[in-house]
Amino acid sequence: MSAARPGSPNYQRELAQARARKERYRGACEECDAPTTGCFGHSKAPSLCHTCSNAAKGVAKRGSGTTTSALLGFLDDGERRWIEIRDHLGITNGHTANILNRLLRYGLIVRVGHGRYRRNPA
Ligand SMILES: [Zn+2]
Repeated sequence: MSAARPGSPNYQRELAQARARKERYRGACEECDAPTTGCFGHSKAPSLCHTCSNAAKGVAKRGSGTTTSALLGFLDDGERRWIEIRDHLGITNGHTANILNRLLRYGLIVRVGHGRYRRNPA
């Protein structure tokens, strides 16, 4: 089946049919119940909507960056002081707190005491 050329009488009808087909192929997001795309075909709707899918990818990538993976590897040996972490990462621009706070928020590291951190075993 070939698609009608733009401008031909069947073109608008085929567009409408294709839109209706994609609408029927939609699913519901497992996380937020929003409609998922129907563009992948019959019974191939993704389980997550675009927003939740991107959020899940972001969560999966946490701690995998160059600096954060170096930090997490450094903390594998055990508890480290803030200044040891800064020197190990070679940070000279006051960025250490940003990285540590982000990883604390993500639950990847634990603040043991004042200025002391270790990897979260969980
Ligand atoms: Zn969703």
